[in-house]
Amino acid sequence: MTPVTVITGGSRGIGAATARRLAAAGHHLALGYRRDHTTADTLTAELRATGVRAIAVPADTRDPDQVTALFDAAAELGPITGLVNNAGITSPIGPFTDLRLDDVREVIDVNLIGYILCAQQAAHRMTHGAAIVNVSSVAATLGSPGEYVHYAAVKAATDALTIGLAKELAPHGIRVNAVAPGIIRTDIHALSGQPDRPDRAAARIPLGRPGEPDEVAAAITWLLSPDASYTTGAVLRVGGGL
Ligand code: NAP
Repeated sequence: MTPVTVITGGSRGIGAATARRLAAAGHHLALGYRRDHTTADTLTAELRATGVRAIAVPADTRDPDQVTALFDAAAELGPITGLVNNAGITSPIGPFTDLRLDDVREVIDVNLIGYILCAQQAAHRMTHGAAIVNVSSVAATLGSPGEYVHYAAVKAATDALTIGLAKELAPHGIRVNAVAPGIIRTDIHALSGQPDRPDRAAARIPLGRPGEPDEVAAAITWLLSPDASYTTGAVLRVGGGL
């Protein structure tokens, strides 16, 4: 049976790199995204050219109806075997005292409620052998002082979600893991107001450089694969030593 995987935030960054890796491994793919139709459509055309089925579905993960529609569309490709819970945002980088309530709520809505809504859809529809990977962050254990402590707190919640869900779904043969990327070269840093953050951070990363999206995608692809058949409830750091 061909694996069918849903990737939220699949149009850019870590999600897009994961889509390319999974297509190479023969997965049919449903890519969720929020607003950048052109980027999502261009990527699905590229994936289809490799021989897999791929669809791009505009679905804001904060909205339960849009999440249901994403999973309904994915189910047309076949029984859903994988979910990469990846759609995430930060907010403007800065001290905790400057944090705006609207930004806190949006980070919680996208990075936690969105992950829960998608995991719930997946848990309803998946059967034995399926797997979920939640994209967390090294921020969960480092705390991101002076940058975005609230985001770090939400990523720590992602780790707790992973551990609890892994135990709850294990009797159904569904594995749940997380990857915790370090500082990865994607657009997320420009969106948080600091496009040069990866290069500036290089000196404090033990491996001496930021990571590339494909280096995170490799870990996600492994966690979804049968090679990880005895791995559940794990949070795999992909942070260059951070
Ligand atoms: P990115 O390049 O900014 O891409 C974000 C993706 O999420 C885009 O496809 C975007 O779609 C989508 N998205 C954003 N808000 C959404 C929403 N409400 N509903 C549906 N889709 C939404 O981000 P990234 O750096 O690849 O990050 C991916 C994940 O890795 C996030 O969970 C992030 O917290 C985590 N992470 C990233 C880093 C890093 O250094 N990059 C480090 C640790 C963890 P549109 O383009 O349509 O808006």
